[in-house]
Amino acid sequence: HEDSLLQNDKLSLFGQLAAGIVHDIRNPLTSLKGFIQLMKSEKKYNSEYLRIMETEMEQIDAISKELMIFAKPTEPQFTSCILQSILYSCLRLLEGQFFQKRIKVETDLEKEPIYIVCDEQRLRQVLINLMKNAIEAMDKPGKITMKVTRGTKEGIFEITDEGSGIPEELIGKLGQPFFTTKNNGNGLGLMMCYKIIEEHAGRIEVESKEGEGTTFRVYLPLAKKEKANPST
Ligand code: ADP
Ligand code: MG
Repeated sequence: HEDSLLQNDKLSLFGQLAAGIVHDIRNPLTSLKGFIQLMKSEKKYNSEYLRIMETEMEQIDAISKELMIFAKPTEPQFTSCILQSILYSCLRLLEGQFFQKRIKVETDLEKEPIYIVCDEQRLRQVLINLMKNAIEAMDKPGKITMKVTRGTKEGIFEITDEGSGIPEELIGKLGQPFFTTKNNGNGLGLMMCYKIIEEHAGRIEVESKEGEGTTFRVYLPLAKKEKANPST
């Protein structure tokens, strides 16, 4: 019933936000519960189930971190990071979802590490949101392509899906809070992406063709010194 809550435009902003969060958390919880029941009925240890369960838990963890941006706005912590490593860590997190929707991920990454200045946690949230949108836009198996390239002053991350595409008249609405075309969306993902990339003095470009797919391109300033944070 939280879906009907989401469509109720009389709900306060806070109410809409809360309903969206409840929805985002219940999905992985339902899946976790399902796998626990499966293991109970099969009465044996299944490492594949456990691996998926771990991904679902990480999903809930990621949502709770995302929310902290609203609950406790803090200054971003900028360090020098390798763009390709951040991309890989996000891919790992969503592995289960690509697999479930039978989406092939193709990567085309610049071989030399590209050092950018960023708040690693927040940049990960941006990439994860763009990846989730790409997955959600595809209603049949297909391919998502991710590219990392070096511009003269910027590192560039590009994600292209073969999904529904975005009608031209809606492009201007992207990033507006609560703008969503999904029954179970909250319309906060892109708003957060734009906010975070703005904080990074970067920019986001969108190209889309209805019925063919969409490309989101994120530009991030290169770091002056090529010294990475060891955690990346
Ligand atoms: P949500 O995913 O909760 O709907 P977002 O802010 O992430 O909110 O996205 C807002 C809207 O932008 C989506 O509902 C969808 O209409 C559109 N959109 C974003 N990314 C894509 C994409 N890759 N393909 C098609 N439409 C997209
Ligand atoms: Mg989204």
